Amino acid sequence: MTRIVARPDRLDLDSPGRRDYWVALEHDSVWGDHLLPLTVWVGPEAQPDRGLVAFGSNHGNEYEGPIALKHLLREIKLEDVRGRIIIIPVLNPSAFRTGTRESQGDDGVNLNRAFVDGAGVTPALAGITHRIAAFVRSSIWPRVHTVLDLHSGGDVARFALCANYHPVDDPALAAEIEQTARWFGTPCLMVYQNVTPGLLPSEAERLGKITVGTELGWGRAVNVDGVRYGKQGVRAAAIHQGQLRGEIEPIDYHKAGTQRTLEMVDRDCFTVAPFDGHYEPLVECGTAVRRGETVGLLHDFDHIDMDPWPAVAGVDGVVLAQAWASQIPRGQHIVVVGRDISA
Ligand SMILES: [Zn+2]
Repeated sequence: MTRIVARPDRLDLDSPGRRDYWVALEHDSVWGDHLLPLTVWVGPEAQPDRGLVAFGSNHGNEYEGPIALKHLLREIKLEDVRGRIIIIPVLNPSAFRTGTRESQGDDGVNLNRAFVDGAGVTPALAGITHRIAAFVRSSIWPRVHTVLDLHSGGDVARFALCANYHPVDDPALAAEIEQTARWFGTPCLMVYQNVTPGLLPSEAERLGKITVGTELGWGRAVNVDGVRYGKQGVRAAAIHQGQLRGEIEPIDYHKAGTQRTLEMVDRDCFTVAPFDGHYEPLVECGTAVRRGETVGLLHDFDHIDMDPWPAVAGVDGVVLAQAWASQIPRGQHIVVVGRDISA
């Protein structure tokens, strides 16, 4: 198999067939390029503005998504593809190479904050990370209606494994998004706030696309179930959105009908560290808690004889996320409790 090195304007994402690329985006320091792996399958029923894209490694230290997508590169057969499927296992090779959330070896920017006005176009926003955002805007958005952005907790947080999405106004789109999320099979669905600027999924939603993210693990490791959920969710979306032939059965919590839909839209869901300290969880993520219940303890080793600070649940619900790395900067969300809105 040959993987073609090509600038974005030389990619063929429209002719029937399968093509494997290294998308070459000019390097800011090395005489050469950043190389993004991209595979596209175009089937006989492909329409110009419809298709599915799945991204891994929007953040460079989250690995279930890239691994699930790397498997799918081998598993999806061209003869089964009806429409258009684009898989990019590593969207940010700069961050992936350093194993960090941001593009640490280059411009230091967080790709999931880089979808802002002028990204990759205005001189002040011309570093590699903003140019990756510009590439997604110009080459990918016009060709897809379904966007899957596979994340994990990295160093920041441990999670109850979930597929996630923002609330959207259009009820038909909201229903499609919820179903697409459900098919990942995860124990939880997370409905989250939409105020953080520059997010890849927020931009996809504004464009009216079926947009789902995930949290499939944490701690720069690879979670067994997380990889399985990632593969299942992408394959299911491709089939249900008419891009791939085949049948698929629900798995795990989806099959059992026990997925919990957890909403973390308002500030009360977030418990903020009041000082730099070390976090000790007292319960696992996924545990049901009452408002005011102590979920974990924040220790201050500079005041070693003081009682630890109790990190309490701000609402009745289920613990969706907690700090992963124990050392915590003041201001970090150390406990996130989602309100259970399962029907
Ligand atoms: Zn992430």
